[in-house]
Amino acid sequence: MTDCVFCNIINKTIPSQPVFENGNLLVINDINPKAPVHLLVVPKKHINGIHTLAAGDEALAGELIFVAKQMAEKFGVGESGYKLVFNVGRDGGQVVPHLHLHLLGGRQLAE
Ligand code: AMP
Repeated sequence: MTDCVFCNIINKTIPSQPVFENGNLLVINDINPKAPVHLLVVPKKHINGIHTLAAGDEALAGELIFVAKQMAEKFGVGESGYKLVFNVGRDGGQVVPHLHLHLLGGRQLAE
């Protein structure tokens, strides 16, 4: 999708410095971090959000979570703890309509 910011990061129209990338997803630093560690795990396939996951996306959805766990360890919050967040749709506070998993850590996040 040409007007999707994350698609444009993935297709390199918008420059970025991914902290991790494989064939299915990439991980970037959030441009407006809410915690000392704030990463976004973004599938390369354009999916609007959790609400539009379809049959066949199960493995990809699981991979987002597994890679987030690996990134938490890589960025030093695996032991201290972290929060994984999917914002879903308007009432869920989702702003970018391309599926992404927030990884937040490095400070107390309990609410
Ligand atoms: P959400 O509310 O779940 O849709 O969150 C979207 C997130 O994407 C926000 O935390 C933004 O700060 C972040 N974001 C938007 N544009 C960019 C960008 N170009 N690079 C990195 N993060 C971005």
